[in-house]
Amino acid sequence: MTSKLPNAQTSIFAVMSKMANESKAINLAQGFPDFDVSPVLIDRIHYYMQQGYNQYAPMPGVQELRTAIAKKIEKTYSVGIDEDDVTITAGATQGLFAVITAIVHAGDEVIYFDPAYDSYLPAIQLSGGIPVNINLDKDDFSIPWEEVARKITSKTKLIIINTPHNPSGAILSAEDIEELARLIRDKEIYVLSDEVYEHLIYDGEEHHSVLKNEELKNKSIAVYSFGKTFHATGWKMGYTIAPDFLTAEIRKVHQFMVFSVSTATQWALADYLQDSKNYEYLSKFFQAKRDLLLSLMKPSRFIPVKCQGTYFQTFSYREISDRTDREMAAWMTKTHGVAAIPLSPFYTDGSDHKQIRLCFAKSEDTLKQAAQKLCQI
Ligand code: PMP
Ligand code: GLN
Repeated sequence: MTSKLPNAQTSIFAVMSKMANESKAINLAQGFPDFDVSPVLIDRIHYYMQQGYNQYAPMPGVQELRTAIAKKIEKTYSVGIDEDDVTITAGATQGLFAVITAIVHAGDEVIYFDPAYDSYLPAIQLSGGIPVNINLDKDDFSIPWEEVARKITSKTKLIIINTPHNPSGAILSAEDIEELARLIRDKEIYVLSDEVYEHLIYDGEEHHSVLKNEELKNKSIAVYSFGKTFHATGWKMGYTIAPDFLTAEIRKVHQFMVFSVSTATQWALADYLQDSKNYEYLSKFFQAKRDLLLSLMKPSRFIPVKCQGTYFQTFSYREISDRTDREMAAWMTKTHGVAAIPLSPFYTDGSDHKQIRLCFAKSEDTLKQAAQKLCQI
């Protein structure tokens, strides 16, 4: 059997969570909260299940949910979105896969930025696309735009961006988004914008969605995750927003990947989105956690990287050890009882800048216990 993904390994998230469980370590590795989903939202799901909303949802998603999302986008970004441009997916992961599969033909070049979320590359490869990776600045994780300009060719079909950025916590500025628009002006190049951490933005900064840029909005697909927004990563609920001609193609793939996703959950989310208080508190809530982790880690020898979004804080351990970052993460987990994610698996070229990522979507108590252990290293 010839593998279609010969180089794919078990995801680092699965590897580190398993190691954390086996070592009984505090798991600050895989990105998920250790606190509960709102009981109001859980009640709504329960309610709809009891009311018999247990059969297939419409293929593009429950219309009430798509309408609620369009209203949310209008409220959050002051941008008008047609509910028919929204497709409900099984998490952002399935949305990303459907988009890449729908757009990328064999031989098309796809530009993406390393360190990159791990699901982009296999999706490009399975579509026969040619991955064109560009490394972000290793210290501030900014995009080197001159290199992007040089790497755009007549074969470039798609550019994948991710803001706020996993794993670094960096965010793109309004100027970055304008530069991207300028570089692909008058070209048949699309943008896949992974915005799953849209509400996790700190220090008074703003999230610059591609949807806010009139030019990009007409050639971009934005991808979101209810898992990240409502602390429910296990539900695997997300959505894509794209202009009609792209949405039509995305849905052709989506319908044969899953057809549709959890009906009762969609109805519940439609209700829950009506109140913007249910997501507007998130930046403040997570910024307090980031700040707590940073202050607890001050006495440690780990050096923080600037984080303005996501629920991840990256640290350099160059003052502590020469180990590879995978070895460091394993050592931290097995010997010191705190699991982290090494950054090298996010690089196509395996770059190891001696950085690890900690997830701060955790209770105060968990963060305190973890920091106490890390300060002893
Ligand atoms: N993109 C990024 C940048 C992520 O960090 C994640 C993980 N939440 C996803 C996509 C996938 O999201 P989901 O869990 O909704 O599939
Ligand atoms: N997005 C999560 C993270 O970055 C993990 C998702 C997964 O385990 N596939 O940690």
